[in-house]
Amino acid sequence: MNTDYDVVVVGAGPVGSTAARYAVKHGARVLMIEEHASIGSPVGCTGLLSKRALEECDVEPLNIFVLNKVRGAFVHSMDGNCLPIDGRETKAYVVSRKMFDRTLASMALETGADLWMNTRAIGLENADSRQILSVVRNGVHSQIKAKVIIGADGVRSGIARMAGLGQVKKILPGIQIEAPYRIADPEFVELFVGSQAPGFFGWAVPVSEEISRIGLAVDYGDSECALRCLDRLLKENSHIASRYSGGMLDLIVGGIPIGPLSKTYAQGTLIVGDAAGQVKPTSGGGIYTGAACAKIAGEVAAAAALENDTSAGRLSEYDRRWRAKLGRELAIGMKIHNFIGGLTDSEMNELLISMNKPSMLETITMYGDMDHPSILMKKMLNPVNSRHLFGVLRAFAKAVL
Ligand SMILES: Cc1cc2nc3c(=O)[nH]c(=O)nc-3n(C[C@H](O)[C@H](O)[C@H](O)COP(=O)(O)OP(=O)(O)OC[C@H]3O[C@@H](n4cnc5c(N)ncnc54)[C@H](O)[C@@H]3O)c2cc1C
Repeated sequence: MNTDYDVVVVGAGPVGSTAARYAVKHGARVLMIEEHASIGSPVGCTGLLSKRALEECDVEPLNIFVLNKVRGAFVHSMDGNCLPIDGRETKAYVVSRKMFDRTLASMALETGADLWMNTRAIGLENADSRQILSVVRNGVHSQIKAKVIIGADGVRSGIARMAGLGQVKKILPGIQIEAPYRIADPEFVELFVGSQAPGFFGWAVPVSEEISRIGLAVDYGDSECALRCLDRLLKENSHIASRYSGGMLDLIVGGIPIGPLSKTYAQGTLIVGDAAGQVKPTSGGGIYTGAACAKIAGEVAAAAALENDTSAGRLSEYDRRWRAKLGRELAIGMKIHNFIGGLTDSEMNELLISMNKPSMLETITMYGDMDHPSILMKKMLNPVNSRHLFGVLRAFAKAVL
């Protein structure tokens, strides 16, 4: 068996599969390894993907993974107020992550990548301009040689750590159940802001008219804290309590890494996706951003391998290019995250009330973009709109821009 590859991608999540596909497209011999015996399982995700996220992954919204279509959101504050945001057309899809991940992995295989399942990376060394990856495959230790390793191994990336690139500093604990839930409208997600999900938000995302994914992430505390908050949200939020009568079909616990690594390359190694913290700090969504960066990683890894120059200097092209595409948006997203997370319940209530005006709602409909919140922020802060807002939004402008 040949164990000498141009590029080895560690992790066959959506980001790893996209990186592998792009590396093959750019001429490299590519192997993906996945520690589990099944693609897309287990997976910690709500599966809410914008239209742009699917486009970035080069897939149509196929019936095989799309469970529901979403066009807007109802945002619920602690005082019981609700801000309705209607995008008036499909803005996002609720997907089965298992089938979505399998679709992307199949695309990588069809392009020509190899895939080893049940294969866990446990060590990384550099020798003679080759990366030596130690793995345990079906319980047996072995080594794989590669010119470039792409670490797409998720939120607690071992590859980033082994390459001396550290780990993402801020990981928000998230928890979610899938359960019978009479959603107000299956085309709208429900969001719950304020101290019911300290520092982030809660959600009910309809999988169908009868079933939703209900969860939250928090900025303070650990997964125990997130669990307690979800328990309280389910029992004490009267909107949820009137629609949820108990029980669950699925439970996931996961971490959302926000704030990218300061360096995402080293000699012979690139880090991408959750492993690199390429996640939107405003929503916790990582598929759009991860896929966008994975394409660049695949292309740069293949080019460097074929040129036989896998030095850190050569691979830094990846870091420069993904930051040029997404760095500013992620940085503004982090400021928005910190600002919103610091609001008191009454400030958040006021903010929602002040946004619930026809002109503001029209602005949100026209410019709201779950992948690029900075576009809406700029529009909201123009003098015509900001007339309607309280001092809280002025403070917001000061903190964010
Ligand atoms: C509660 C929650 C809800 C979320 N909701 C959304 C959402 O609605 N929309 C959205 O866009 N994002 C969402 N996200 C984020 C999203 O799940 C991630 O951004 C996305 O999965 C990142 O993809 P990835 O391929 O980088 O990593 P992953 O999907 O985590 O894939 C990494 C893969 O690497 C494998 N692996 C790890 N270590 C090794 C190893 N040593 N050897 C071999 N294989 C290894 C893992 O088994 C896994 O298959 C959510 C996250 C959480 C926690």
